[in-house]
Amino acid sequence: MTSTPPLFARVALIGIGLIGSSLARAMRKHNLAGHIAISTRSADTLAQAEALELGDSYTLDPAQAALDADLVMVCTPMGAYKAVAQAIAPALKEGAIVSDVGSVKATAINDIGPYLPDGVHLVPGHPIAGTEHSGPQAGYADLFPGHWCILTPQDHTDLAALDQVARLWSMCGANVEIMPPEHHDQVLAITSHLPHLIAYTIVDTAAQLEGDTQKEVIKFSASGFRDFTRIAASDPVMWRDVFLNNKDAVLDILGRFSDDLAKMTQAIEQGDGDLLEEAFTRTRAIRRSVIDLKQHIPDVKPGDTE
Ligand code: NAP
Repeated sequence: MTSTPPLFARVALIGIGLIGSSLARAMRKHNLAGHIAISTRSADTLAQAEALELGDSYTLDPAQAALDADLVMVCTPMGAYKAVAQAIAPALKEGAIVSDVGSVKATAINDIGPYLPDGVHLVPGHPIAGTEHSGPQAGYADLFPGHWCILTPQDHTDLAALDQVARLWSMCGANVEIMPPEHHDQVLAITSHLPHLIAYTIVDTAAQLEGDTQKEVIKFSASGFRDFTRIAASDPVMWRDVFLNNKDAVLDILGRFSDDLAKMTQAIEQGDGDLLEEAFTRTRAIRRSVIDLKQHIPDVKPGDTE
């Protein structure tokens, strides 16, 4: 009996935290890679990945992992993209695909694209799945099923390479959507980046309250605050890079949000109950649409942070 060969003969994962290690596990589970080469920055994280048997070879040198790879998946925080691209470029073979999982797609295009040699195909991607946990132990094979993975090709992107990356994510269980990178970054600014900024700000406001009041905020956190604390526990380095890299789209949506918040503030000041009730009625309808599209979470479970 002949078994189907894996989708890629050799895959290099650069960065083996929550997303990289989830992808390693999913590729293993679904037989998508003949060889998984793992590279990360610190010897400690590399040793953890090896102890968890996430790959077939392990190295602190990204170029060594990328050597002869058919697919290199960059799974580091976006602030590392330029250095990673510069390091792997000389090792990439003709026809190799370089992809990523970063939360801002302009960054893959600006910080990886220019360093790739001719004949290497860039296919930027973003799985909309995650948790507030980090590191190789945090990942799991079933992070992606039921979640979107958005691929953001450019006009000149090689269609065969795009198809290969789309197949990888589909076989990991994700629903693949293709859209222009600028559109991705605008949509994610409102659906993910602004909510994280609001959560970080509310929780930080509470953190700066004085002694007893702060203790009571924690004690009575079930009344809404608790959900913000989960989001605000997300990785600080990753989210620093999101706001630095999606500056324009975030500032645009933050401007609109600030205007709307000022209107709410004024309505409360002036006792304008009609304005408040109308706004809260509109938002209920949005919640119903989210449920209709099965994008709601009946119980908070891992995989729903982004
Ligand atoms: P993570 O758990 O913190 O893991 C990051 C990994 O990148 C670690 O292995 C870390 O290595 C490595 N790394 C950091 N700086 C590096 C550098 N300069 N050179 C090489 N490796 C480096 O992060 P994550 O949550 O998996 O996020 C990774 C990417 O996925 C980010 O770009 C993020 O935007 C994207 N993403 C995240 C989520 C989410 O919910 N977390 C969802 C979708 C997409 P060391 O430990 O060795 O330093």
